[in-house]
Amino acid sequence: MRTLSAPLLTKIGAGLEITELTLDPPKAEEVLVKMTASGVCHSCLHAMDGTHGGMPLPLVLGDEGAGVVEEVGSSVNEVKVGDHVVISWAPNCGRCKFCVSGRPVLCHRGAPAGHLPDGSTRFHRGGRPVYHFGPATYSPYTVVHSSAAIPIRRDLPLDLAAMIGCAVATGVGAVVNTSGARLGDSIAVFGCGGVGLNAVQGASLVGAHPVVAVDLNDDRLDLASQLGATHRVRADSPDSLEQLMEISDGGFDVTILAVGATRAFDQAWEATGRGGTCVIVGRTPDGERTEFNPQTIHTGERRLVGSIYGSVRPSLDFPKFADLVAEGALELEAMVTNRYAIEQINEAFADLAGGRLARGLIVF
Ligand SMILES: [Zn+2]
Ligand SMILES: [Zn+2]
Repeated sequence: MRTLSAPLLTKIGAGLEITELTLDPPKAEEVLVKMTASGVCHSCLHAMDGTHGGMPLPLVLGDEGAGVVEEVGSSVNEVKVGDHVVISWAPNCGRCKFCVSGRPVLCHRGAPAGHLPDGSTRFHRGGRPVYHFGPATYSPYTVVHSSAAIPIRRDLPLDLAAMIGCAVATGVGAVVNTSGARLGDSIAVFGCGGVGLNAVQGASLVGAHPVVAVDLNDDRLDLASQLGATHRVRADSPDSLEQLMEISDGGFDVTILAVGATRAFDQAWEATGRGGTCVIVGRTPDGERTEFNPQTIHTGERRLVGSIYGSVRPSLDFPKFADLVAEGALELEAMVTNRYAIEQINEAFADLAGGRLARGLIVF
C-alpha cells in the first residue's frame, strides 16, 4: 500500500481538493503506473460541474494520461516494468463479441462506473473506498487493468503522448475509424477543442478536401488552420449554414460533431450532404433533446452515427498514433496551450471552462 496526495472530487460543483489517499498494489491482471502527464479534458469538467452525472463520490478524476509502469500483477504478460504506456479509459475483456469483432470500446465487461473491472477500488481514504473516474490519471500513481496500459515507443515525450489516450484517439479515430471518410471527401468539424483539432488532423491524414473548421473562437480557428483546415467558419455568424453549403458545394460527405452542444448538432446535421455521414462525438448534457425530420435521413441516404472513443482498438491504434506523432504526421505540441503542476488543477479547469485551452496538460 502506498500513501499519496491526489486531487479529489467530493462534491459536485465544488472544485478539487488535494487530499491524502492510499493506493493498494495492483491485483493479478492490473498494472501500477507512475504518471508523467495527464490531459485536462471536458469529460472531467462535466463530471465536476454535474453536466454528466452518475459517478460515485469521492472520486479521483483524469481520463487521459501517460506514464511509466512501476509494477505489474502476477498474470500480466503484455506490459513490463519500465514500459512507457499510454492509458486507455476503456479497459476491455478481450473475449466478448465486441472485443473479438474489433470494437473493444463497446465491451460490456470493462468496468462498472467508479471501479476497476473486478468491481473494487484501489484508492481508499480512512478505510473507505475512493472511486476511480476511469483510469484516475490525476493521481501521481494509479492502478489500471492491463488492457488499459498500452506500451508505446520510448522516443516520444511522455507528456505529449498523454493526449493519445483521449483527445487523439477520440478525434482522429472519429474520422479514420468511425466515419469511413475517403480521399477527397469534404469534411466539416464542429468544435475545435482538443478533440475537434485532432479530428481536423484526422481529416488531413485521410486526404479529405475541403477540411472545414467550425467554432465560436478565432484563436481555436487559427489553430485549426495551422493543423490542416483549409477553410473556417464562425459558428455564430448569421450566414454560417450558407457558407458551409457554398464551401461544400451543397453539403458535406462527413460532418464531425466534436462538441457536446445540441445546437451544434442541428447545424452539423443540416450541413451533412446527400449520401453523407454525420458522426456524433461530443456528449450533450444529460437530459437534452432535439428533433429533426426523419425524411432527411431517408431521401438523401444520410447516415447519423455515434463514435465513442473514436472506435479505437487501443492496443493496435495507440502505438500507431505514437508512430504518426514521432514521424511528424500528427502534431501535438501546437495543441498544448498550457502546462500546469498538479497543485494548479482548479486553475486548469477554470481555463478549460472559460474556453482558454485547446489542450491543457498536468505534468507531474
Ligand atoms: Zn477525455
Ligand atoms: Zn469485451
